[in-house]
Amino acid sequence: MNLQDLSIFKNQCLINGQWSSHSELIDVRNPADGKILTQVPYMDGIETRLAINAANHALSSWKSLTAYKRAEILMKWHDLVVARANDLATIMTLEQGKPLNEAKGEVLYAASYIKWFAEEARRAYGEIIPSEDNTKKIHVTKEPIGVCAAITPWNFPAAMITRKVAPALAAGCTIVVKPAMETPLTAFALLGLAQDAGVPDGVINVLTGDAKKIGAEMTSNPIVRKLSFTGSTSVGAKLMADCAPSIKKLSLELGGNAPFIVFDDANLELAASELIKSKFRNAGQTCVCANRIYIQKGVYKQFSEVFLEKVKQLKVGNGLEAGTNIGPLIDQKAVRKVRQHIEDALCKGASILIGGEPHSNSDNWFPPTVLLNANQTMQCANEETFGPLAPLICFDTIDAAIQMANSTEFGLAAYMFSENHRTIEKVSSRLEVGMVGVNTGIISTAVAPFGGVKSSGIGREGARAGLDEYLEIKYVCYGMG
Ligand code: ADP
Repeated sequence: MNLQDLSIFKNQCLINGQWSSHSELIDVRNPADGKILTQVPYMDGIETRLAINAANHALSSWKSLTAYKRAEILMKWHDLVVARANDLATIMTLEQGKPLNEAKGEVLYAASYIKWFAEEARRAYGEIIPSEDNTKKIHVTKEPIGVCAAITPWNFPAAMITRKVAPALAAGCTIVVKPAMETPLTAFALLGLAQDAGVPDGVINVLTGDAKKIGAEMTSNPIVRKLSFTGSTSVGAKLMADCAPSIKKLSLELGGNAPFIVFDDANLELAASELIKSKFRNAGQTCVCANRIYIQKGVYKQFSEVFLEKVKQLKVGNGLEAGTNIGPLIDQKAVRKVRQHIEDALCKGASILIGGEPHSNSDNWFPPTVLLNANQTMQCANEETFGPLAPLICFDTIDAAIQMANSTEFGLAAYMFSENHRTIEKVSSRLEVGMVGVNTGIISTAVAPFGGVKSSGIGREGARAGLDEYLEIKYVCYGMG
């Protein structure tokens, strides 16, 4: 596979409508075999400032367009992304590793955010509030917040970008994007299509390089009025602190530690199938992945047998090969974390039902691994593994499941399986999370508000709420006397 053959392939940064290189470059590697795919610019604070200035320069004309015109351009971008989905997916699999069909699914999912926000652009309604007396009229409008910055992770190289860029543009904001160093090529190709769709120069800028220096400029520059970040809680907390002096608006989508609870009365076949999707999608590298699997005592053995049969069907391999269900992990650090969680669990009394050792074909490949007799004291129950490890923990009562599920600083997603509406109502209302999947392991969609509570973040992406994140409320009081 030669990247140069893909016409949308780009390995330069986009600043003020110009594709720009740099004296310093950094390798982008294929996690499936460690080979260098290409090199991309290693920019720092100076280029970040140029990009922010370009976004600032482009702001007034972009926000002056009607929402209808902005929506039209966004829809063109959507159509181009859908038309080039195969090429985008190939680029994504090469740099990120996920199976090609999953990559294509992500591209279409990413496109769905563009379409959703193109539609929502036209519905940034204000309101007229009845006044307390006849001498005043009270009008409330919503205005674009201004220049925005976005920092995105490598696990969803396209969707994490469109979730931020599409609502920003729909609202009338301009933006500077810093994708993860592991996956810049999807970002360049995706945002290059936005240029092709007619997004004016400077409205979207994208640069790669020194994360700390780029982040420092984004957080300290007073022109930037909003930062949207998806990544680890530790980096999110630092960015939040750095944004404090200039009081920037923030959206933070941070770590998770999702419980997946199977009650005695659950449909076990359904629960096991949904757990396969929730746990092993993207090789377990999603922030909403089931991390701790709680199974009620009465069905623990039976469920583990049903689940095991499904895990046996999963094929680990290069994402470009047909039939691959689980691609490589992103790097060796990720593999080490999975191994460490397994070793810790074995020391504390767990046993391996399947998997456990790295695949011999490539350094970053790791097979789906299931642990029996896991418990709350283990690292895998307290930290996000971000890999294909499924620890099965036994519980007794509904209250015990709720207590265990909530005993974490994180609160992004949770899943529960039961056929009893009272159990569903009680548990879903008491789970301290932003999102609950009831009898389903897949909850992400552009039309619903995605986000977490506690250390999992602030704000929501997608849905109507996702547009509000890029709008400020202005109240105008008209004296009528
Ligand atoms: P992950 O473990 O998923 O890589 P990170 O939080 O480290 O999570 O990375 C998410 C994004 O944040 C990436 O684009 C990364 O380059 C960026 N990043 C990491 N450290 C910093 C920092 N100090 N300032 C700004 N961005 C950062």
